[in-house]
Amino acid sequence: MKIVVCVKETEGELSPFDQSAVECALELSDDVTVISMGRPSAKDVLLRLTRLGCKAVLLTDSAFAGADTLATAYALSLAVKRIGADLIICGRQSVDGDTAQTGPALATMLGYSLATNVMDFKADEEQITLSTRMGECTLDYPALITVERIRNLRFAKLRSKLDEVEVLSAQDIGADISRCGLKGSPTRVMKTFESAVGKRKCKFIQPNELEDVIQEGLKKRAEKLAPTVSQTPLTLVWCVGEEVVSAAKTVAKEIKVIPRDSAERLAEIIKEKGCEFVLWPADLWGRSVAPQVQALLDTGLCADCTALETDGKDLFMYRPAFSGTLTAKIRCATRPAMATVRLASGGDAQVILSCGKGVKDILPQMEAAANNMGAQLAGSRGIVDSGYMPYSAQIGLTGRSVGCDVYIAVGISGAVHHTCALDRVGTVIAINPDKDARIFEYADYGIVASAEEVFL
Ligand SMILES: Cc1cc2nc3c(=O)[nH]c(=O)nc-3n(C[C@H](O)[C@H](O)[C@H](O)COP(=O)(O)OP(=O)(O)OC[C@H]3O[C@@H](n4cnc5c(N)ncnc54)[C@H](O)[C@@H]3O)c2cc1C
Repeated sequence: MKIVVCVKETEGELSPFDQSAVECALELSDDVTVISMGRPSAKDVLLRLTRLGCKAVLLTDSAFAGADTLATAYALSLAVKRIGADLIICGRQSVDGDTAQTGPALATMLGYSLATNVMDFKADEEQITLSTRMGECTLDYPALITVERIRNLRFAKLRSKLDEVEVLSAQDIGADISRCGLKGSPTRVMKTFESAVGKRKCKFIQPNELEDVIQEGLKKRAEKLAPTVSQTPLTLVWCVGEEVVSAAKTVAKEIKVIPRDSAERLAEIIKEKGCEFVLWPADLWGRSVAPQVQALLDTGLCADCTALETDGKDLFMYRPAFSGTLTAKIRCATRPAMATVRLASGGDAQVILSCGKGVKDILPQMEAAANNMGAQLAGSRGIVDSGYMPYSAQIGLTGRSVGCDVYIAVGISGAVHHTCALDRVGTVIAINPDKDARIFEYADYGIVASAEEVFL
């Protein structure tokens, strides 16, 4: 089987998702080509992969600079056509842009079948059977899958040799320059600014007050706040599904709802109705289907927005970038202008008890505590990678983000990769014996104590 893996170099490294994608490919075939579109310096990362037996192709050209997901998927689609592939594997998302849009848009441009957020797979010559975060499915080839952090990339053998990296320009792949780079990118970052998203003012409390603040958090979330409405709203905004109506209300006079359907059908409806502004839920379904529609309509899509704004003519979309350390203000130059919008809860449990490496030795007791309070048990990457919890329980940049009413972080230091997944949580409570732990900056309530003092 011929497999192409699409990877992105970030600061001289591949993201854990992309490393997982390469490892999945090597498990399935010995005919693996890794492609990256990026700066000439990305060659070093690709070169290292040739030691694992991968062929490597770098698309690099000043014409590719400033590409958004649509322009990136376009260039990659031409390269894949040139190489040929039965299966394309992408990481779930990059860890800088983290839109998760390039894979689905690429599948649509190539006419490949698609599955995103793959947690496990079994493949033969005919088809590939997948277990994804949304359920099971089987795809015929040619197919494209995006994988979660389900594998660790193998090390190269000591005596393995480096191979050539094939370097291709826009001309080499026969690209239409008007569809590449900044020129071919409908979404434009207007400005970025340092983000205070997720930071909270922590009130320190005593262990015996824990139950009260949990109850308060549950009550507070039930009394939802009314959204602030723009003074100069857009005339009409379309919503795919009811869940994004409250976000639409902040920028629109009139709202119309389209029910969830296949990408093809939704693209038809949006075209037929001449929709100018379309909002999608940024849940697993929306983040997979919206980029397919983006590719079908050749338009801009802003991923995972946390706020919307308008001047009555245009839609401005705000989203976190670089693990939530920056916020970007984005507009879309084409119509329809589309965005996936973060949902308040996203179907999470009301209370999540999340454990870090600091409580790995008392995990059975923490599980019992979670059961007692009717909470779902989850964890940091620290505890998952130490082998104490399954990957499916991991919260954070390379796990999942959460929108529960109350999140209790116990024995978690609060690395940016963890806290970036908490900004939709109603109330965050942190328990840590280290009063300087970063997690307290991202908590509404803090208890400076060991988990043993609080739970045993
Ligand atoms: C690209 C990339 C992606 C990543 N993705 C993620 C991700 O998705 N999710 C994620 O979580 N991390 C992620 N990480 C890792 C992240 O940077 C941290 O290393 C990780 O979150 C640390 O896990 P931790 O807080 O459990 O462990 P540690 O940082 O080791 O913290 C343990 C904490 O436990 C406390 N403690 C010790 N004893 C006790 C006790 N008895 N009771 C209570 N507390 C105690 C300590 O004071 C300490 O603060 C990622 C890293 C990278 C580079």
